[in-house]
Amino acid sequence: MIKTAAGARPSDLLPASILGLLGSRGLMTRAELATALRVSPATITQVSKDLMARGMVLELGQIASAGGRPARPLALVSSAGRIIGVKVTATHLAVIAAALDGEILKTWTLPFEPGRPEALDTAARTLVRVLGEVDGQVLGVGVAIPGVVDSLESGVADSPTIGLHNAQVGAVLRQRLGVPVLVENDVNALAVAEQVYGVGREYSTYLVVTIGRGIGCGIVIDGQVYRGATGGAGEIGHIPMVADGPPCPYGHSGCLESLIGMPGLLSKAAALGQNNTVESRDLDSDIATIRRLANLARSNKSFAEGLFGWAGQLLGGALAGAVNLLNPEVVVILGEGSEQWDLWEPGFEVEFRAKLLASRRSIPYLVEGWDEDKWALGAAALVLSSSFDRDGSTGYQGEMVRERLGIASSIGGKR
Ligand SMILES: [Zn+2]
Repeated sequence: MIKTAAGARPSDLLPASILGLLGSRGLMTRAELATALRVSPATITQVSKDLMARGMVLELGQIASAGGRPARPLALVSSAGRIIGVKVTATHLAVIAAALDGEILKTWTLPFEPGRPEALDTAARTLVRVLGEVDGQVLGVGVAIPGVVDSLESGVADSPTIGLHNAQVGAVLRQRLGVPVLVENDVNALAVAEQVYGVGREYSTYLVVTIGRGIGCGIVIDGQVYRGATGGAGEIGHIPMVADGPPCPYGHSGCLESLIGMPGLLSKAAALGQNNTVESRDLDSDIATIRRLANLARSNKSFAEGLFGWAGQLLGGALAGAVNLLNPEVVVILGEGSEQWDLWEPGFEVEFRAKLLASRRSIPYLVEGWDEDKWALGAAALVLSSSFDRDGSTGYQGEMVRERLGIASSIGGKR
């Protein structure tokens, strides 16, 4: 359950939270909203009346509710806003425009060369063009970056894997685009997408683990993404697994990611005699290579065990450690590598269960299908989730999103 609005600034946040919930979940009755937001039904009635008067929410015909009493559900007026999501990669920007219910309306793939000094400037210019192609008011832009981001509000990013160092992503884009910009680590953005559109509807404490080029983990505790003291929490890929192993981009050796991230898998395959396995800088060709290896593994049991079984076992051990440490209710596994999960699963299942504390041995995990738009939808969800901002982590940018929803200043009679 998403918890919000009961914190420090309920008069600001409650209308935004109602809009955010209706946007992400569709129709809801006032009673359902009151339960989800942990406020009284009378408060919901009062605030929703104001939102209806502003033309942002409408009341639909009666439906039978659980208690048998008919109720009139509320819905968002669909023109209330558009959200933009940008996933940054080593070679391009994957961009989507979405409606508030998460429906993807349009996608763009824009060239991006993060190593060049003018990279951010070029990105800003192409994104200005994208914004011009979007119908309806843009509430904000969410940006998901593989690496450490200091805060959603300031958006300074460090990403050695794609060659971005101390990049002022938030400041540059905000100034050039003229809309709120929220920047986050890409795996944390996926965790936010799960919060708004996925498992967050049923669970409040969970891990979102990605397998693919890198190995990442978003941590959601009591309905909030846990970012750590400086924004770098969840680096499960840099848990040391073996005393001396392959190097990682941060200068360690033997990290989980250096072993079973995509480049690690390719070197392991080479060590198993697949000498034509060459790692490239190009994710698409690496994915093609992994698919070829997976086909081979499906007809060669010992190769399957030696490569994917071994990788699944390492992942299972590391993840069991994370579950023992954080005690989540569920684990979600996704990312481009989840396509081969049938091959990872046997090794994973045995090691994961074996290394869990007895009291959590039955924890479920869900493996989700994958496409690149999911990263970008995660970025877009950052904008919507700023409506639920309980601890102020989205700062002034989050306030601006709420301003654009037309609700920050006058409802509730404060500020
Ligand atoms: Zn490392």
